[in-house]
Amino acid sequence: MAVIVLMYHHTPDGAPEGFYDVGLATFRDQIRTLRDAGVSFVKFSECDRPDNVQAGIHVALTFDDGHASNAAAFRFLADEGLTPTAFIVRDWSARDPAYLSARALGDFKEICELGGHGATHRALSSLTEAELADELAASRDYVGEIAGAPVSTMALPGGHGGARELAAAQRAGFVLVGNSRPLPHVTRGVTVNRNCVNRTHHARTPLGWTRAGPLHWTALRARFAAAAAGRRLMGKSLYGALTALAK
Ligand SMILES: [Zn+2]
Repeated sequence: MAVIVLMYHHTPDGAPEGFYDVGLATFRDQIRTLRDAGVSFVKFSECDRPDNVQAGIHVALTFDDGHASNAAAFRFLADEGLTPTAFIVRDWSARDPAYLSARALGDFKEICELGGHGATHRALSSLTEAELADELAASRDYVGEIAGAPVSTMALPGGHGGARELAAAQRAGFVLVGNSRPLPHVTRGVTVNRNCVNRTHHARTPLGWTRAGPLHWTALRARFAAAAAGRRLMGKSLYGALTALAK
């Protein structure tokens, strides 16, 4: 049937600050609620397996940007026997102490899958062909060195990217690319829909998504299409400011 891929960003041990923050306590409650309901968890790297896509409902856990606040979330998930995937931005990891360093990520690689999220977090769709190839290769090489193995998954920075960016990602060796379309992953292929969890969501919201019927997803799809059209008309920065206010 489907994999519902959840996308988290910061998971601070305290009150959320940004719109995309989910407090650690709420995060734990969301995972426990899913677990207590008997939901099947799969790794992001396995979410395109035919048995996961075609039979049952499964949940995969992803974290974008590699924020240092995710460390406690990863340890909690390890205690629960669950393996998330963290998508890392090379420059933030290498230079900014607010993000997990290569050394910290090395400590987590046994309990957390590592994937790419760009070298700089620039929108891939804004890059020339040469810049795009460099951005993807640098991201792949940085994470691959930490993981000690080839890296085959990534997430689109800002969710921006279409056919050109997906083709370039595949040429760079990425097999699965997480997007930001808030829908279940129901069709096998390189691009994987992901549902962003934000500060407005409560303990039972992700569980609700696993039980949602077609009408819920049809309404979300329409809202997403309208937002995408708005983004094209307005330009990205204004759009970002407006949607952060509107959601
Ligand atoms: Zn990001």
